[in-house]
Order: sequence, then C-alpha cells, then structure tokens
Amino acid sequence: MRGRVPEAVLLDRDGTLLVDVPYNGDPERVQPMPGAAEALARLREAGVPTALVSNQSGIARGLIDRSQVDAVNRRMEELLGPVGPKAICPHGPDDGCACRKPRPGLVLQAAAALGVEPERCAVIGDIGADVEAAEAAGARGVLVPTDITLPEEVAAAPEVAEDLASAVDLLLGDRA
Ligand SMILES: [Mg+2]
Ligand SMILES: [Zn+2]
Repeated sequence: MRGRVPEAVLLDRDGTLLVDVPYNGDPERVQPMPGAAEALARLREAGVPTALVSNQSGIARGLIDRSQVDAVNRRMEELLGPVGPKAICPHGPDDGCACRKPRPGLVLQAAAALGVEPERCAVIGDIGADVEAAEAAGARGVLVPTDITLPEEVAAAPEVAEDLASAVDLLLGDRA
C-alpha cells in the first residue's frame, strides 16, 4: 500500500489525536495534540474518511465507564471536528479479546464501519501496538512517536513520521 493514497485513515486517540491523560474520563482534561485539528482538516479536504481505533482498558479496570469515554470523545470532536466512527476496546490486557490492539479487531471494526477494505486503510498511532494492529489487519501502519514510544517500537515500525502533519503528508502524497 505504500505510495498509494489510503481510502481511509484510522487514528489512535490517546497520544495521537489527544495528549495522553491515562484513563481520562474528564472532558475538561481533553487537549489535542499539536497539529491534530489541521491534520484532520486536511484528510477531510482530501475526501479521505477517518475513524477512531482506541484501547480503553480503563473500562475493564473499573477506572472509567463507557459514558465517560463517550464524553471525552464528544469533547475531542468539539475541538477537532468530526473524527468518524469510533471503535473502542473496553477490555483489559488479560481478557483475551479480539479487539484490543495489537490485535486486529478494532481496525477491522473501523474499516467495516467505513465500508473500506482493511487493506486500503492506514492506521496512525503512537506505539508499537497501533502499528502491529494495522499489520495484523492487513492495513498500513504509520508510527508517530511520543515520549512514551519505545526505541524498539520506532525501529520496528514500517513507516515513522515525526508528527501528525507529516504522517498525513506521507499518506496523501501528491494529493495533499
Ligand atoms: Mg496511543
Ligand atoms: Zn477488546
């Protein structure tokens, strides 16, 4: 898929679209990552639909509930505009679910919600699990590292961009 504009872009939330506030259930604490609004606007202008693919194990851990996740997502969209369908994994790492990244389930769900084949999707995220989920689903993974990204995750990623704007540049290519 490299070199070809994806038909949809699936975005991680925490550490990618929003500053990562662990297990955040408070809309007041929502803060976009630098350039997130512009990156989403460019995708919209290019006619590339987007969706959210987000692990929210705080639900399984009993730290937040789904309504708080939804409230945070609503605040995100107030600040960033529409993000599209939201594929959320509420499970914990030991639940053995099929959706929690690095498993492919969220990517498959989001692609299905958009009516796009997973192979035609790109996934942008800030950790290795995002890229691995993309690859497991047959999608293209782009890593945008943050302070929490491990050096080995950067080394293993097929494509790395320094920020969201660069990731969108990479994906849109000449269509930007
Ligand atoms: Mg993240
Ligand atoms: Zn899950």
